[in-house]
Amino acid sequence: MTVPYTNNYSYHEALIKSLKVNVLRPIMTFVASDKLKFLDLPWKPYYTQLQVGLEGKERDLFNWFEQSLSIEVLAVALTILVTITIYTMEHYLDERQKKMYKVTEFPKDLEEVVKEIDEDEVNDEDEENEYVHEEGKVVEDDCGGKKKEKNKEQRKKMLPQLLSKFSKSQHYSLDKLSFGILHDAYTIIETVVFILMGALPYTWNLSLRMTQKWYPWSNRSVSTLDSNYESQHEIVITLVFFILTTVLGTITSLPWDIYSTFFIERKHGFNKQTPQLFIMDRIKSLVLTFALGCPVLSIVIWLIQWGGEHFYIYVWVFTIAFSCFMMTIVPLVIMPLFNTYKPLKDGKLKDMTYALAGRLKYPLTKMLVMDGSKRSNHSNAFLFGFGRNKRIVLFDTLFKNVTDDEIVSILGHELGHWKLGHSICNFLISQVYFGIIFFCFSLCYENPELYSAFGFNDPNRIVPTIVALTLFFQTLWSPLDKIVGLATTLYSRKCEFEADEFSVNLGMGKDLQRGLVKISMDNLSSMVSDVWYARVHYSHPPLVQRIQAIRNYMKKNDWS
Ligand SMILES: [Zn+2]
Repeated sequence: MTVPYTNNYSYHEALIKSLKVNVLRPIMTFVASDKLKFLDLPWKPYYTQLQVGLEGKERDLFNWFEQSLSIEVLAVALTILVTITIYTMEHYLDERQKKMYKVTEFPKDLEEVVKEIDEDEVNDEDEENEYVHEEGKVVEDDCGGKKKEKNKEQRKKMLPQLLSKFSKSQHYSLDKLSFGILHDAYTIIETVVFILMGALPYTWNLSLRMTQKWYPWSNRSVSTLDSNYESQHEIVITLVFFILTTVLGTITSLPWDIYSTFFIERKHGFNKQTPQLFIMDRIKSLVLTFALGCPVLSIVIWLIQWGGEHFYIYVWVFTIAFSCFMMTIVPLVIMPLFNTYKPLKDGKLKDMTYALAGRLKYPLTKMLVMDGSKRSNHSNAFLFGFGRNKRIVLFDTLFKNVTDDEIVSILGHELGHWKLGHSICNFLISQVYFGIIFFCFSLCYENPELYSAFGFNDPNRIVPTIVALTLFFQTLWSPLDKIVGLATTLYSRKCEFEADEFSVNLGMGKDLQRGLVKISMDNLSSMVSDVWYARVHYSHPPLVQRIQAIRNYMKKNDWS
């Protein structure tokens, strides 16, 4: 590959030229030679700041070809091409997974492991009975009898329960996936239409006009196209733009949210939300988005304008500080806006958890129960907190079927994430990732051709920072983001196995297996999965793999 580098060129220009000649031209020759005439389509937004561009397009093939090679046309065409390619790949995986949800036969491997769990249980009970017999003491008082009865009730065989839930789980998963496929199709059409319509320059100009009309400190007499006005008031215009796009986004996603909550989740018995609660949640989220988003956006734009060449360093430091701030404020201020947290009642579960936390030197200060049942019947548990002030939160839905021992084994898994440094590692990875993003963004920030392609083609006006950021994520960064996403899910699954092993090594392997099966059953989680779909999408390994791994850890470390 030759890089035409002379003194008159900047390195940037040389690199772009070289890319055009060596990479894009062969690709485009290939595309143009095809009957599809891919580039003959109007790869230019309908609405642009200046109505100039390729109107005088020559039909002469050579000229047409040279013009087609302009970054402006290529940027739009390639963005749409990449978006559609990613969509097609994901759709292919969805279809593979859909086939799995239509299977009516219970998966053999899952049947085998759950049967083994049930057999373990029977053996354990026999051992217990023998023990009682040998000691010659039979506790038969009312309380003990009831306790034993309850224990037995909770410890009834799981395989029949799982079998009875299988077809329900398949239907639920299929409904959710089919809905997802439809939603994805809508999203891609919306994205392409918005690019080709020039929704971005249109909304920006609308925000500019609205600011001029209503912003009390603005000079009303200046012309809309005055670039001084635009650059002086960029932050205010950006906030108007942000509010407009957020409100628009909420409106277009509303029908989908409503259908998912009130039709799919309700049909399968999960939804507990009333329409009032649903509306209140949306209003609270919007207010929060504005309350947090507006100051953050203002600071980021100010830093980019003020920071000069090395702005990415300042922006990065700010995002790290902001992430730490969010980690403190989210559980203390934001989550209580949506749910009620009550301290866990004194009792066996609390004692066992504090004992476990003490053993692992986890600075547990509070155990809370969240009213997750207010919205849905899905169950969960999580840890949060900063420094010496850690808390454990359990969803109230968890207590329905899962026993205290099983909950503690699941907390053993969660504490494993903390003890093995997964939480801190995830935090560091995301911070480094932000740093890389902002650095790459700083490389493209000054390239006007990219923004011109998407309708910001008036050389006398500024390219708004928020638009530059949006386009950067939508075009150059989106394929990279997908790859990073794949690596992240892979890493996340590895962490899950490690945390399971951690809980096993605390001597809780048996309870953990039962706990996981029960939670999976209560959530109607999918019991079958396509290998590739799971690899791409699952942050947690499929249930059967986790149980198999737990059993192996138990054998390996003599816990069985
Ligand atoms: Zn986990």
